[in-house]
Amino acid sequence: MRILPVVVLLAGIVAGCARWPLHRAAPAPVPTASPSRPIPYPVFETRAFTRAVERGTRTRTGEPGPNYWQQFARYRIDAELVPTTSLLNGRETVRYFNRSPDTLRTVWIYLNQNLFAPTAARVESVPVTGGMEILRVAAWGQALSKRDTGAGYWVNGTLMRVSLPRALSPRDSLDLDIAWAFQVPPDGAPREGTTGDVFMIAYWYPQLAVYDDLTGWQIDPYLGSAEFYMGYADYEVGLTVPQGWLVGATGELTNAADVLSRQTRDRLAEARRGASVVHVVREQDRGAGANKATNTGFDGVVTWRFRANNVRDFDWGASSKFLWDATIAVVGDRDADHKPDTTVVNTFYRPEARRWAWDKSAEYERNVVEFLSSYLWPYPWQQMTALEGPVSCSGMEYPMLTCIGGPRDTLSLYSVQVHETAHMWFPMQVGSDERRYAWQDEGLTRFNQAQGMQAYFKGYDRERISRDAYLALARTDSEVPLMRPGDQYPPGTPAYGIASYDKMSTNMSALRALLGNEGFASAYRTYGLRWVDKHPSPYDLFNTFNSMGGRDLSWFWRTWWYETWTLDQAIGSVTTVNGKLAVTIEDRGLAPMPVRLSVTRGSRVERREIPVDVWLQGARRYTLMLDDPAAVTAIEIDPENAFPDIDRSNNRWVARPEK
Ligand SMILES: [Zn+2]
Repeated sequence: MRILPVVVLLAGIVAGCARWPLHRAAPAPVPTASPSRPIPYPVFETRAFTRAVERGTRTRTGEPGPNYWQQFARYRIDAELVPTTSLLNGRETVRYFNRSPDTLRTVWIYLNQNLFAPTAARVESVPVTGGMEILRVAAWGQALSKRDTGAGYWVNGTLMRVSLPRALSPRDSLDLDIAWAFQVPPDGAPREGTTGDVFMIAYWYPQLAVYDDLTGWQIDPYLGSAEFYMGYADYEVGLTVPQGWLVGATGELTNAADVLSRQTRDRLAEARRGASVVHVVREQDRGAGANKATNTGFDGVVTWRFRANNVRDFDWGASSKFLWDATIAVVGDRDADHKPDTTVVNTFYRPEARRWAWDKSAEYERNVVEFLSSYLWPYPWQQMTALEGPVSCSGMEYPMLTCIGGPRDTLSLYSVQVHETAHMWFPMQVGSDERRYAWQDEGLTRFNQAQGMQAYFKGYDRERISRDAYLALARTDSEVPLMRPGDQYPPGTPAYGIASYDKMSTNMSALRALLGNEGFASAYRTYGLRWVDKHPSPYDLFNTFNSMGGRDLSWFWRTWWYETWTLDQAIGSVTTVNGKLAVTIEDRGLAPMPVRLSVTRGSRVERREIPVDVWLQGARRYTLMLDDPAAVTAIEIDPENAFPDIDRSNNRWVARPEK
């Protein structure tokens, strides 16, 4: 392409600038359907994806390939929290299994707590602590020192590189020992922090970075905005806290008899038996001793031991002020024995949070677990916990655990509970890369949240709230496409949130309208179930919907994921021609979509559809001929709001009543 002007220039010099075109026939015009609209070109997979297909780890039908692999780790963590100083000391041994076909000479470790270090790179302001102090690193028992060449470890912000004393071969495993300490940041720290009386402890231990078949080491740093990509692992965790403090965590408590008083254990057993909410720890029960919340411990501390298998993280919260409510939720048949299974639901909150509806939180949590289990697939774990934490938790998800902070009313509490609990499916089970593709978990979660809200609050249209929020930003021309790493959106603007949450949710609504309710539900569940406990890329989602829907939806992905084109279908004119009603539909926007029309004749409504192919061939207008013009009383484009039309004022035509 760039060569052409040079050739023309040379030809001009040879033939004489002004005259040379006269000696040649005028070039034939380049055929083009219409220069005035973009035609979405196909979605091309990345080279990494093509390579993965060639190696059999991915497929073009959206299933994991026969050679799909991912890494695995086993963590044993012991930590102590001293609330009076907010200090956390931890030590872990990690066995890291190299299931990849590659020999690894270095491993990378996330030190997300270093977001709060004075020198860390960040895209948002946070309270500054000292970050995470690394006290010891050993590989296969050999202590390593901090150095940037040879075997040793090197810390850069939220990442640590460990150069191993020997290579880690495929099918071999690495044993790491790491000790660390940090000060828990105050309330104001994103997704975690402490107010002094409640602690949310997250991003708190050195965690193996993801090494996958597409990227190798995914070591985009944690900068505060974009979220996480985490590998699956088993955890055994011992948490030492003062006696009388309650801990809500990922996983199952394995030493209840050591930690919890007989009274607390009896009430938990009661909660497991029935469907009513049991107040396991009430105000007067708080503290340690007989008829109190916990047992007393040596030196005034007790150690809570948790186990969690095949989860992508382990997190916890603690408070001496927590009340504890519990019940069970029926999640459907999880193990294919044709009997309904249940999960225990726990909520922890301070008494003052009753004014924010937290006395309803266990009932709400049971409802949302049950709804999502039937809408998607059964909740897989033995327990689910929602805890009331620092305001800066806002609403945050961890495996089997959510932290919710700040003032709420009943609508807002239900809304945030259903959203954060929906994350137990995406990304906790379907482990996509949140840092690069936030829409792949947040957008699906926003959509699932809307389904939960609409089921519980009849007549409440949560999908409309997302659509309106997306359209409001689209009208300002400040929109940024979805396919962009989460930290690369203009900070301090709604662009990231709209793209990742509300536009993506609206895309799912549109996809449901394109595929029909059943086709959509089947493809959606298939995508999720194919990738449970795995790492799907965007192409795995696209390919699953393409193959399940039986058609290439490239035009749809290109339009709504890679571009900021907007949709504006309009009724251009309605006239009578040769005894018929000629209805001209104009596609005034840049986003091509099928046109769904309702034609009303008195009390009768007919449906018509103009296929998207009309626009994909370059047209800007299409005329529909309707019989019996006098009977037509109204015509409307997309009366169900299936698609996010940016200007609805031109969507409806009403016959003028005869005078
Ligand atoms: Zn979310």
